[in-house]
Amino acid sequence: MSSQPIENKGRIFVFSAPSGAGKTTILKQILERFPELVVSVSATTRKPREGEVDGLDYYFISEGEFLSKINNHDFVEWEKFYDYYYGTLKSSVEDTLDLGKSMIFEVDVKGALSIKKVFPQAYLIFIQPPDIAELKRRLEARNTESNEDLRKRVERAEMELNFKDMFDYVVVNSDLEMAVEKVNGIILKALEDK
Ligand code: 5GP
Repeated sequence: MSSQPIENKGRIFVFSAPSGAGKTTILKQILERFPELVVSVSATTRKPREGEVDGLDYYFISEGEFLSKINNHDFVEWEKFYDYYYGTLKSSVEDTLDLGKSMIFEVDVKGALSIKKVFPQAYLIFIQPPDIAELKRRLEARNTESNEDLRKRVERAEMELNFKDMFDYVVVNSDLEMAVEKVNGIILKALEDK
């Protein structure tokens, strides 16, 4: 789903990756290097994991609230997976872009393609895990999901990998430092391109 294109001066970087690909770790390091980038905070109906903070990691809302926001057209895009809803709120994006600030979005592959429709100038970056076996190992090591959720996430990862060619950049995360350097280069070039 999408809404009207919105003019802006800030750059838009959209990150997608199968869960367990190391996206969050890479993003953390990138934000240390580019503290001026504003991270879009999505809304979700999933319960917070240990250490996650409402309003910082996500806006954790009820399914009822989420559905009413869909009705009110409050989302740039939204998706439902693993029985939970996830969506990018128009309000947080518009306010930031109006100030000319650049933003980072962390969404699934379909969300990324929806954002590209609304903001064609967005830079889509796909973080690819070295292989599915390694991804399974990382997810198991993280130990934050039930067996059933884990199985669904691996299944979804296989589906998401099929979308990678629709991205502007694909960064393979076999070596964390090299992956961060590559993303760093992409962002640096885009910010200098003004
Ligand atoms: P997690 O439950 O691991 O935090 O996120 C699961 C998936 O939801 C990840 O692929 C993440 O990128 C995606 N996601 C998070 N927020 C959004 C959003 O606003 N829109 C979409 N389409 N996907 C999102």
